[in-house]
Amino acid sequence: MAENKKRHLFAANWKMYKTIKQAVTYLHELTALIAQKQANDIYIAAPFTAINTLALEEQKLKSSIKIGAQNMSDLLEGALTGEISASMLIEAGAQFVILGHSERRRIFHEDNAFINKKVNLAFQAGLQPLLCIGETAEERKTGMTESVLETQLAEGLSGIKKEFGKNLIIAYEPVWAIGNGHAATPSDAEKSQLFIRKWLEKNWGSETAANIRILYGGSINSGNAKEFLKEKNIDGLLVGGASLTPKSFSDIINLN
Ligand code: PEP
Repeated sequence: MAENKKRHLFAANWKMYKTIKQAVTYLHELTALIAQKQANDIYIAAPFTAINTLALEEQKLKSSIKIGAQNMSDLLEGALTGEISASMLIEAGAQFVILGHSERRRIFHEDNAFINKKVNLAFQAGLQPLLCIGETAEERKTGMTESVLETQLAEGLSGIKKEFGKNLIIAYEPVWAIGNGHAATPSDAEKSQLFIRKWLEKNWGSETAANIRILYGGSINSGNAKEFLKEKNIDGLLVGGASLTPKSFSDIINLN
């Protein structure tokens, strides 16, 4: 009997890379490199400027790749110079948004309460939130990993209506593993992913928790991805550096 393969989610986080032109070229190349009938879900979190063009191009290509953003404002509208609202993103064609990435937390001082407002707003507006959580090297060294994850979950998801829950995506991204080539071990990652699943089960019930995709992110490449995908509570991967070329991202997607 054919093996019932799990449908994984592969999300690219392009960060502050790619002009509109480069983004379109990438989308064409990636579409050509992956199977048309995808056994996986593929998301691209693009810079704001490229979202609209990419979303329109994606409709033409019919590649079923979801285009999203890497951040958004915590308010619907207002005198907030330089910010982007959920409705602006939706109108541009975004279907999801990364929230609480460790670079936003560390460089832009975003805390859990602020991120929570964004998660709430994203759900209300109809954007799928991809919430990033994870401990720093120091927190890991001092045995704080689970308490940090618990706080980020409890505060980041405070007040979220249960019916929205199943649409949430979580990415466990240990901060010490991001962008440096030193990924967590798959079994260490699985330990945290299981902790996250258990927290979701306790707070939102097992049915909702089973539907929530929990991704791993941190120095994933085509050489290490397969081992992560074997873990029970790893439902996909959030990929930064290795998502920047269609070849390296498709090499990861095509493993599954
Ligand atoms: C990220 O920044 O979300 C990420 C996972 O980056 P990298 O894959 O480069 O570690």
